[in-house]
Amino acid sequence: MAYTVVSFHAHPDDEALLTAGTLARAAAEGHRVVLVVATAGGAGLASSTMLAEQPLAQRRHTELLRSAEALGCARVECLGYQDSGMADARSGALEAFADADREHAAGRLAALLKQERADVLTVYDPAGGYGHPDHVQAHHVGVRAAQLAGTRVVLEATVDRRPLLRILRAVWWLPHVPSGFRPARFATAFAEPERLTHRVDVRGFLAHKRAAMAAHASQATADTGARTLAILLSLPGPVFRAILGHEWYVERGRPPTRPLADDIFSSIRDQP
Ligand SMILES: [Zn+2]
Repeated sequence: MAYTVVSFHAHPDDEALLTAGTLARAAAEGHRVVLVVATAGGAGLASSTMLAEQPLAQRRHTELLRSAEALGCARVECLGYQDSGMADARSGALEAFADADREHAAGRLAALLKQERADVLTVYDPAGGYGHPDHVQAHHVGVRAAQLAGTRVVLEATVDRRPLLRILRAVWWLPHVPSGFRPARFATAFAEPERLTHRVDVRGFLAHKRAAMAAHASQATADTGARTLAILLSLPGPVFRAILGHEWYVERGRPPTRPLADDIFSSIRDQP
């Protein structure tokens, strides 16, 4: 049985970090994978030489298409909102996604879910991962859209907070690690392990994931300091595999069973 999964993200490159392996695996298994971003990511950081060549949103849209191709996505849509920027550096854009009318945005996503007859929708956890206002909004808009469209399975793409904090505590003081990686900042980020329902093994799809991450070249650049994508892409193979070889989800309404599910379609397969 082939299913359709719609993966909803705030900005181009979020799909590569949180869900790339899952999407590549679903596409390889014959399912339809649709990627939707709320914004083209115009408030992201990038080096000034890159910014001088082309508007950032335009460049990031091209990068998104390249990433989607690497993952085997059948369709890519952008809802066309403006990137709001981080909470401490808001972009001030008029059509900022974080300020958008939630019901209206959810209606637009719901229309797409209905058109695609989506079986599964991926959104973010209620914390918006690390708290970006657009990510928090993506959680609420996605959850509401699934209600409106009657989408059966909603997966909050997240990260197991415990190992993440362990890694950050071990590396945050190293000279090339950005100051934003302070462990205290992540104390309430993503999900506590007790809430998780899925730990998806994507070790067989790390080449796809790496290609998707590498497609977002602008997000590996900045005038000062190292960027998360650049750091992750520079990791040696075995470390990359250890850190990025699994992807985590909380399926809304599904009790967290142990062992964690490995298949994002398992709830649908269990109840046809
Ligand atoms: Zn983002």
